[in-house]
Amino acid sequence: MDKLLSNRVKLLSVSVTIGISKKSKELTSKGLNIINLAIGESYFKTPKYIQNFTKFSIDLEKYFFYSPVPGYVDLRIAISKKIKRDNKLFYKYNHIIVSNGAKQAIANVFLSLINFGDDVLIYLPCWPTYIDLVKLLGGNTVFVKGNIKKNFKVSIYQLYKSITKKTKIIIFSSPCNPTGSVLSKYEVIETSKVLKNSNIIVISDEIYEYVNFIGRNISISSILFMRNYAVIINGFSKGFSMTGWRVGYSISPLWLSKQCEKIQGQITSSISSISQRSAFSAIEKDISFILKINNRLLKNKNISISLLEKIKGLHFNNPKGSFYLFINVSFYFGKSYENFLINDSNDFCIFILKKIYISLVPGNKFGDSNYVRFSYSIPLILLRKAIFRMKTILSKLK
Ligand code: PLP
Repeated sequence: MDKLLSNRVKLLSVSVTIGISKKSKELTSKGLNIINLAIGESYFKTPKYIQNFTKFSIDLEKYFFYSPVPGYVDLRIAISKKIKRDNKLFYKYNHIIVSNGAKQAIANVFLSLINFGDDVLIYLPCWPTYIDLVKLLGGNTVFVKGNIKKNFKVSIYQLYKSITKKTKIIIFSSPCNPTGSVLSKYEVIETSKVLKNSNIIVISDEIYEYVNFIGRNISISSILFMRNYAVIINGFSKGFSMTGWRVGYSISPLWLSKQCEKIQGQITSSISSISQRSAFSAIEKDISFILKINNRLLKNKNISISLLEKIKGLHFNNPKGSFYLFINVSFYFGKSYENFLINDSNDFCIFILKKIYISLVPGNKFGDSNYVRFSYSIPLILLRKAIFRMKTILSKLK
């Protein structure tokens, strides 16, 4: 039946993180004691105040119907207050389109901008969805790669050298999935200088905004001359432990937000009305619990680093945000144990999963096959257990 499929869909790969999570769940359902370090979400539950407000909203029996396509106005106003409070940015609510997660927000922006053959510059390592979405829309992916020695950050010189007349969009995440790197104010300013008068749209994916161990997120939208060219992607998934509620948003210049609304109106209409109420309560109330979560994640990160450092052959940096370590495992390539031979990060992940029941994500999909992504967003007791198992099995590879 494959011949019935569109050429477009054939270009698309299955989301690697969703694929690994599915595999882990399958093995767990077979009774295996899997420790999932491939996870891309906070291990804390959605806070009680959000749960309670959601129940209250259902009881009001008012929110059972279609909402406006870009989201309820009070939610969009609350988001515009949030960015004023947290990011010192001033946007009216009509710049904000509430979508089914940050993922749909990015898709809306891409659909509004990418023509066949347009170049989209993607900072590597990156979240793999950027690559697949650009391919789906017929754009060209152009990569510019950060190096572990510079905390995986793309230098201003690299950026400058990578821009051509065909470059239409630049996309990156900060804090970054998978490397955890966070752009500094200086780097944001220098980036904007390179892009001044270039007509290039910058998409700044800030979904890990609150998982930041060095303070306030600096957005490129804060640079005045970038306002007409900068798009912020954000949402409630990571910071508020609300991945399943599917609430994200884009903040863009009006010429673009109108198009995102049009596209969303034809594809999904608005997002779930009830989830919008949950998101509303999330930002309207005190968000001090985010600090508590951050402290726990920071502790997990520090303990992971101190334990992983004792394992021969693993190389990584000390990231400033998100909840991942991006670990170079190439020391083990060419080594074997029993009937396993490790040639790349994919083999490494299969070995670890099959021998010690730990799931990691291979780095090839993020843009570097020497690496694996290790999430420390799990309870500390499991984290210690997982690292102990890794240390034991890796010492057997010869
Ligand atoms: N952007 C990045 C960098 C991500 O890592 C993810 C999810 O893993 C998303 C966007 C999508 O977030 P959401 O769950 O809100 O769609």
